[in-house]
Amino acid sequence: MAQTHAFALNNPALLRQHSFIAGRWGADGEAINQGVLDVYNPATSELITSVTQGNITQAIEAASAVQAGFAKTTATERAAFLLRWHQLVLANLSDLAQILTAEQGKPLSEAEAEIRYAASFIEWFSGEALRVQGDVLASTVPGQRLLNLKQPVGVVGAITPWNFPAAMVTRKLAPAFAAGCAVVLKPSELTPLTALALAFLAEQAGCHPGVLNVVCHQDAALVGQQLCTHPAVAKITFTGSTSVGKKLMQQASAGLKRLSLELGGNAAAIVFADADLDQAVTAIMAAKFRNAGQTCICVNRILVAAAIAEEFNARLEQAMRTLQVGPGFEPNHQIGPLISPQAVAKVESLVQSAIAEGAVLRYRGQVPSEQSGRLSSLSSSSTLFYPPTLLTHIKPTMAISQQEIFGPVAAVQTFSSDLEALALANDVNTGLAGYLFTRDPARIWHFSEQLQVGMLGINASAISQAHIPFGGVKESGFGREGSSYGISEYLQIKHLCWG
Ligand code: ADP
Repeated sequence: MAQTHAFALNNPALLRQHSFIAGRWGADGEAINQGVLDVYNPATSELITSVTQGNITQAIEAASAVQAGFAKTTATERAAFLLRWHQLVLANLSDLAQILTAEQGKPLSEAEAEIRYAASFIEWFSGEALRVQGDVLASTVPGQRLLNLKQPVGVVGAITPWNFPAAMVTRKLAPAFAAGCAVVLKPSELTPLTALALAFLAEQAGCHPGVLNVVCHQDAALVGQQLCTHPAVAKITFTGSTSVGKKLMQQASAGLKRLSLELGGNAAAIVFADADLDQAVTAIMAAKFRNAGQTCICVNRILVAAAIAEEFNARLEQAMRTLQVGPGFEPNHQIGPLISPQAVAKVESLVQSAIAEGAVLRYRGQVPSEQSGRLSSLSSSSTLFYPPTLLTHIKPTMAISQQEIFGPVAAVQTFSSDLEALALANDVNTGLAGYLFTRDPARIWHFSEQLQVGMLGINASAISQAHIPFGGVKESGFGREGSSYGISEYLQIKHLCWG
């Protein structure tokens, strides 16, 4: 298979080239091989490697065959397996981060942080495995005993996106394994290599054949449809766009499968006149430009009190001028490429339509010189790098306010009262994260209660950790990942009335 990559792994075996089904890597079984998926480096548009596609039915049957046995393993066995996996992920951190940067583009330091974050879910849920507790209820009838058992839901179908190719995988797999559920994972076709490397380490940590199956496939719609309709799959867990989430919910409704959906967001950062502006700018820079703006909790709308807007914009511009754009393997870059030509085209069209409707282009950074080869044949844009861009005079009706930008574009609008700020912040279909910058405790309480979001950063932007409940309201989906609530998505309650 053709292969060009400019990174050097300590353990080259981590760069897998096959789907993983029933404990076998594709080459061992002809039936697994369903053609190949080419994986490209978005910073250079070079082919990294090709991966054999998996057969989804085979993967579901493999998981189904071992589900009953896996459910019977003890919590201590599963916790021990998760701890071994956690240690292996940390021991291979540098290699995993390189694979992640190669296929996804984010700066290596961010990739390393993501691997640590991904590992933290495995560690957290190794502990949660030991804390699954049923109940014994008070009885109202003499001689009767009432008990609630918590049992694994069964085989889980997990579909993960390309923006966090490691963390979104472990945030689903670790609680599923802790609860005793076998998994069929379909990683994004754009970033399957990190998921496969994690699966390789899970295998080394003693994951039984069939408990984890990774199906790489170009045809995401086909795989999604089969996962949602196969009778042996009990639950679907998905992170991705709201439109695909709705499709999966429709497909899963025929068999009434359990669902967890972590979908798109449109986070507002609200900066009041009494805010500590240095703190607000630092936090917004982090929450806006992480992963080149490609996260579902990225600040999408910056709402600033009109009285301080000029001061805020000047400080934000100054901070943005320090951002360097370029390949993630080079240490001086904070902004990597966007994931695809379609992503670049979408961001550019949101920016241009905002400008056409009256937004002011206050700052536009630089991008590295042109990419070549495959990219130029795919797109009118000759690079996947997008310049950090600051737009002011944004209006709530503009597409850039109503849609996820998913790029390094800061879009600032102003407000004149608390009432207006709250109405603007809530005037979107989604409700994942929000950010609030003020020193006023009464205002903090009011907005904490009234904002329609699942997570709120108050004078803070780093809201994601393994032990916080991650998830949204409205069209950002339902269910919570991480935290003590995360494992309940993979458990069902059975009541016993014992006469
Ligand atoms: P994004 O807009 O972030 O790329 P998507 O929702 O398109 O988000 O992709 C997230 C995941 O969903 C990826 O693994 C992708 O392959 C998968 N996916 C895309 N379309 C479908 C579909 N119709 N059915 C099931 N999965 C899908």
